[in-house]
Amino acid sequence: MFTPPEYLSPSSIGLFRDCPQKFKLSYIDKIKEPPAWHLYLGSFVHEVLEYLYKEDAENRTHETLKSIAADRWTNHEWATKVEALEEKPGTIADFKRAAFESMTNLWSLEDPSETELDGMEHEVFANIDGVAMKGYIDRFIFAEDGSVVISDYKTGKIPNPRFKSEDDKFFQLLAYALMLEESDQEATSRVELLYLTQKAKHDLTVTPVKLNIARGVIVETRENIEASCATGEFHCNVTNLCDWCHYKKIGICPAHAGK
Ligand code: SF4
Repeated sequence: MFTPPEYLSPSSIGLFRDCPQKFKLSYIDKIKEPPAWHLYLGSFVHEVLEYLYKEDAENRTHETLKSIAADRWTNHEWATKVEALEEKPGTIADFKRAAFESMTNLWSLEDPSETELDGMEHEVFANIDGVAMKGYIDRFIFAEDGSVVISDYKTGKIPNPRFKSEDDKFFQLLAYALMLEESDQEATSRVELLYLTQKAKHDLTVTPVKLNIARGVIVETRENIEASCATGEFHCNVTNLCDWCHYKKIGICPAHAGK
């Protein structure tokens, strides 16, 4: 009835697990959500920090950060894009302040002049037990023993453990660890989430058990997506989060249509 996407990514798997209907509207019907303030904030912070780490170690200072942020903002369309957002929960000054605070909080988690990254925005393709996967790894380093440490910046809040388990919180990074192992034969020893707003680093030692849990999620989600595509049934996972869902706002989510 519907054709499943050729590739899945850790984030598309996450979306299907959050709400199959939302996955369908986004990845199968290809009705994309418009850009949002918090997504732009995260992308802007990622981009500026990527450029910071391209500088020589001794130049990775607050001053350099400020000048990279100003350059990306003015000369790389960020000013125009953020100005054009339909919904702005604050002023442009608020956006810049929140972004700059997140970026400078990095110094509470690591010293950028003493941290050397071995890969950033690394594109990876892999076949995990028959599931074609692709995605981008934010950043990784090779530890002294040759193993890989994968990390990811987060500009949102730390998830409440009552609503998100440890395995779910680290799923995306564990999926990337599996993908690196399959594509580049690199073993990952640790994954780290850098919560910039809250100045917190959450990390997890990667074990075969953790990797197998992520592998199981990937395979099971692919099977569920194929089953939904065959029957045309994509469950609507109605929760309080629906109030923030674009598809509810524009009236095309079947669970809320006509309400
Ligand atoms: S409004 Fe709720 S049920 Fe509908 S697509 Fe969005 S998250 Fe899913």
